[in-house]
Amino acid sequence: MPFQAEYIWIDGVKPTPTLRSKTKVMADDEKISVWGFDGSSTEQAGGESSDCVLRPVFSCPDPIRGGKNILVMCDVLQAKDDSPHPTNTRAALAEQAKKYADQEMIYGIEQEYTMLRLDGTPYGFPVGGFPAPQGPYYCGVGAGRVVGREIIEEHTQACIDAGLMISGTNAEVMPGQWEFQIGPADALTVSDHMYVARWLLQRIAEDYDVVISFAAKPMKGDWNGAGAHTNFSTKAMRNDTNLKAITAACEALGKRVMEHVDNYGDDIASRLTGKHETAPYNKFSYGVSDRGASVRIPWQVGRDGKGYAEDRRPNANVDPYTVTRLILETVCGAA
Ligand code: ADP
Ligand code: MN
Ligand code: MN
Ligand code: MN
Repeated sequence: MPFQAEYIWIDGVKPTPTLRSKTKVMADDEKISVWGFDGSSTEQAGGESSDCVLRPVFSCPDPIRGGKNILVMCDVLQAKDDSPHPTNTRAALAEQAKKYADQEMIYGIEQEYTMLRLDGTPYGFPVGGFPAPQGPYYCGVGAGRVVGREIIEEHTQACIDAGLMISGTNAEVMPGQWEFQIGPADALTVSDHMYVARWLLQRIAEDYDVVISFAAKPMKGDWNGAGAHTNFSTKAMRNDTNLKAITAACEALGKRVMEHVDNYGDDIASRLTGKHETAPYNKFSYGVSDRGASVRIPWQVGRDGKGYAEDRRPNANVDPYTVTRLILETVCGAA
């Protein structure tokens, strides 16, 4: 029996690329192979030589279609010579991951997002108005406190069925805002899984006429933004004594502040203001248990003297290939 392979890739839209996908009907015994698409329709090519190449990098069962059907995450190559397309941030990460493989860096990324109605208003806000101020919504239960749980339930089970390393979910501080976490895993795995998980979320929400927004600050004013806290640890950090390697990692991050922040997602200055559990984007700080710091060392890690650190700065709309690459370069490069 033929089956369906959904080829997923990242387009060239600026400032925040979006996911695209198309379906290939595969013969019963057909193996995954390279495919192509029209780059002039995805801001990845001009009309005169528009073909781009899709190279499969990760595949898993398709939990929506079920059966033998699969999802195929791809990166994009240039048709003229099979080199990475300028929009392909995975290729640069693959190089750094290889270079620093001996330090065994792993990551857990907390993906926050906001549900919107088709008209762009938050799903958690009453039509034409505002809900009561933040407070009851974070990890809340009950009508009037959380909305969209049916989508979260379906998405979490879909990620599990696909074999993705999803590690949890929670309702967030602003109504209609939620989070899921992927990891811990190496840079390429956590990033590939994150993109497939984002695709599944958007695909499932489609059936509810709900738009998933990864915008950093979807509602101006006294409403939390949406981030992608990136937890990381090298082997040395996991086997640390008295936070020596963890402190060294934080100090290294403090020496390259803007290289990171400028690549941590669009509109980061609106989110990292110093309010709403953030540190100002241009002022680096770190500390044990400090949710107002750029980088937090969890209290248990502070107590044990070893473990991991949490870079709280990346936006929800960050490219996981880029944030994991930058942390590799900065932390492993200084070790
Ligand atoms: P928070 O308290 O910040 O909301 P979460 O529970 O949402 O924390 O997320 C913590 C993340 O840290 C998870 O994705 C988990 O996989 C990850 N994590 C746990 N241990 C490590 C480690 N040693 N190295 C890297 N990431 C880790
Ligand atoms: Mn979290
Ligand atoms: Mn959160
Ligand atoms: Mn966090």
